[in-house]
Amino acid sequence: MGIGTCNNHPNLAASYHCAQCHKPLCDRCIVNSKFCSLACSAKNAQFEANYKRPAELRRSAIPGILFFLAVAGGLYYLLHYHFHYF
Ligand SMILES: [Zn+2]
Ligand SMILES: [Zn+2]
Repeated sequence: MGIGTCNNHPNLAASYHCAQCHKPLCDRCIVNSKFCSLACSAKNAQFEANYKRPAELRRSAIPGILFFLAVAGGLYYLLHYHFHYF
């Protein structure tokens, strides 16, 4: 694969890099399909959770609030100025 030898087996070619610490790894050393160890797997999962949460909040909450305000404002405007409800 041209990425050097396994971090744990200097005589085996590396096929992967740990997705967390980027150590070169062979087929036998890969954990959870893309990590060098359970520690890296856990660290990566935690990092992704921290990274994704604010992005999801931004995506779902803020447009939701803006949409609600736009609809409420539009309704108020229509009822107040066009139909003289209040
Ligand atoms: Zn690692
Ligand atoms: Zn190995």
